[in-house]
Amino acid sequence: MKAIRVHEFGGPEVLRLEELEDPRPGAGQVLVRVGAAGVNPVDTYIRGGVHAVRPALPYTPGLDGAGVVEAVGEGVTRVEAGARVYTAGSVSGTYAELAVCVEAQVHALPERVSFAQGAGVFTPYATAYRALFQRARALPGETVFVHGASGGVGTAAVQLARAAGLTVIGTGGTEEGRRLAAEQGAHHVLDHHAPDYLERLPELTGGRGADVILEMLANVNLNHDLNVVAQGGRVVVIGSRGPVEINPRAAMTRDASVHAMSLFNASPRELAGIHAALRAGLEAGTLRPVVGRELPLAEAARAHEEVLKPGAYGKIVLVP
Ligand code: NAP
Repeated sequence: MKAIRVHEFGGPEVLRLEELEDPRPGAGQVLVRVGAAGVNPVDTYIRGGVHAVRPALPYTPGLDGAGVVEAVGEGVTRVEAGARVYTAGSVSGTYAELAVCVEAQVHALPERVSFAQGAGVFTPYATAYRALFQRARALPGETVFVHGASGGVGTAAVQLARAAGLTVIGTGGTEEGRRLAAEQGAHHVLDHHAPDYLERLPELTGGRGADVILEMLANVNLNHDLNVVAQGGRVVVIGSRGPVEINPRAAMTRDASVHAMSLFNASPRELAGIHAALRAGLEAGTLRPVVGRELPLAEAARAHEEVLKPGAYGKIVLVP
């Protein structure tokens, strides 16, 4: 099979397309023929060797993917060959024509969801779900401010929050990104590059501020979030690319809390809840992963450059 291999941690150029022996599923494992692999910012941090997760070299990147079960190992009972699935992590990596997963990492992909869309399910939707409902405990009727609503996690959060009965305010850095956030269900959209955009929040929330803020770039925004969060509000730090200085007094006066999260910390029980909720939403059509760009597997290096550039538009996926 063809697969992307990383022999040393470094820049995007370390991602090389190689020919490998086809893998075989061991006991308790599932072999997936990958229809599409999802590209996430975390894949670039791992490739650069700057993430807590440091795979043994050489390795094939990729947690997210979707395709068809090719074969199952001994003892596998939940899926069989021929089933459409999305992956939530992988033993051998999803940037490949074939990926080995443990049984708990594969989940049914409804017919209405394409493989490219399925490759955009796990990391973005599970992160958005965990942030909204497991960390912030968002409730119907509350207002959520999705600070960065044009990318993978942001569009997922908009769809999840809208379907759960929250009022959704999203931001995007480009006209296209803001239009996308509105199409996905945001009631209001703001431009996070406009100098005065946060001044619109009190007006859009009847003076209260946002009950929940999902923060994609905390190093830029966290201190400002504390001035626009509601009394008793919760900020969830999802993404941050550096340090930030905050004034805790703004949080004190509002009894506000700052939560941080990593999807890697979700327990098996929490993940089971997440996948059950995602499956229901994918089946019902309330969750519709947005594929902004499909690139051939051989262009993994370009995908890693693109995923970190401004001007996000849903997901970037690789097609073997
Ligand atoms: P993505 O698709 O590249 O989207 C990035 C988002 O950040 C876009 O909406 C982008 O908007 C927005 N953004 C850029 N500048 C911003 C600003 N000044 N203020 C607010 N938003 C801004 O990435 P993703 O997959 O959605 O992931 C988002 C972040 O969460 C990344 O840092 C990622 O590493 C992190 N993440 C963390 C976890 C976790 O477990 N904690 C899981 C998944 C992702 P424009 O491009 O329109 O400007």
